[in-house]
Amino acid sequence: MNINFYKEYNIYFCMKGILVILDGLGDLPNKQLNDETPLEAANTPNLDFLANRGEMGYMYPIKPGYIPQSDEAVVSIFGNDLISSTRGQLEASGAGIKLIRGDLALRANFATIDSLEKGNILDRRAGRTLTTKEAKTLAKALNKIKLAREFIFKPTIQHRGALVFRGGFSDNISDNHVYFLKGQDDKIKLCKPLDDDENSQYSVNIVNEFLEKAYEVLDKHPVNEKRREKGLMPANYILLRGAGIEIPKLKFYRNWLSVAYMPVEIGFSKISEMKVFSFKYPKQKKLDVYENLYKSLKKACKVSIKTIKRNHKKFDYAYIHIKETDVPGHDNKPFEKKEMLEHVDQTLFNFLRKFAPQRKINIVVTGDHSTPCKLKSHSADPVPVLFYNDSVPKEKKFNEKEARKGILRKIFGHDLIKKVEFV
Ligand code: ZN
Ligand code: ZN
Repeated sequence: MNINFYKEYNIYFCMKGILVILDGLGDLPNKQLNDETPLEAANTPNLDFLANRGEMGYMYPIKPGYIPQSDEAVVSIFGNDLISSTRGQLEASGAGIKLIRGDLALRANFATIDSLEKGNILDRRAGRTLTTKEAKTLAKALNKIKLAREFIFKPTIQHRGALVFRGGFSDNISDNHVYFLKGQDDKIKLCKPLDDDENSQYSVNIVNEFLEKAYEVLDKHPVNEKRREKGLMPANYILLRGAGIEIPKLKFYRNWLSVAYMPVEIGFSKISEMKVFSFKYPKQKKLDVYENLYKSLKKACKVSIKTIKRNHKKFDYAYIHIKETDVPGHDNKPFEKKEMLEHVDQTLFNFLRKFAPQRKINIVVTGDHSTPCKLKSHSADPVPVLFYNDSVPKEKKFNEKEARKGILRKIFGHDLIKKVEFV
């Protein structure tokens, strides 16, 4: 009897593995936590239970010394070459924009600058205080800009959005995004062509024209006038990255389900032909982005549990990506990071520690990169890996230090799926 028979009749078939990626999981010892990392400081009995009955190691998502972006790391962990992906295409596809070959897709951030003349970037995310309603209103105004080519700007979550220019472009152009603010001389820059091709110059001209007009529209927009009155940063500039004109060629994972809710993750999962289980991201109604983050974190854990319960007899593997844990690293909030990890432990991993053993489901828990709070950005530090396979219990705690000593030793992102035999 072949495996599909069992799947169809739900007799003996059961999921074999679950991969959980906690975004930005890895960290460094932090003074605010008595020189512990958030994962060390966190009370995580359920993760520790899984670690005790499994193996640990540490992973360079791409390669030692390389600082990964989330999309690059995930693309690599699923065994793809980096060049086979572009952020813009993943974001736009995840945002539900239909793309055809030659459409130029970019990931966008609402940001704050002092003025176009002075050109100083004050915040890369407009203070993380942009509400869903404000983003929608600003996007509407942006979509009225007149350019020589058709385009669409779609706001997604918080300060994020996707921008697509229709038809016949080159994607060999630079970002105008800055990945880290130094605190001085953080100047805006225009996109530049990365080759001598006429079309790259043409593409850059259109994109830069959009950027200039976007500033004019946004800076004086009533939404931003009101934000200034309230002492908030105006969302008056757009930062772009990850230009792409082709749907990325990714490996297919048709026997996987994916719980994804960030556009880039939805896009990645769809293009990898996983079955996507998503939920509507809670609207940011108030100024406090952390209230919004905790709400979505709770929802993500709940939806993950429900999806596994309902579908463990229909798919071989599950991929769950929890985004929120990355944000406190960027904001240097170690207590918030610790609290988020504890929440995931108490909900999702509390469920998995009971659900997985009796069904012989293996579990991998890791991060897509480190986001050390004290650096406020991603770093090249390896991430801890936990591989639960119901082995003989040994006393261990899941954290960076213990993982370094683990018997799985050093792993490269590219080899993870094979190493744990999730294939
Ligand atoms: Zn990430
Ligand atoms: Zn990040």
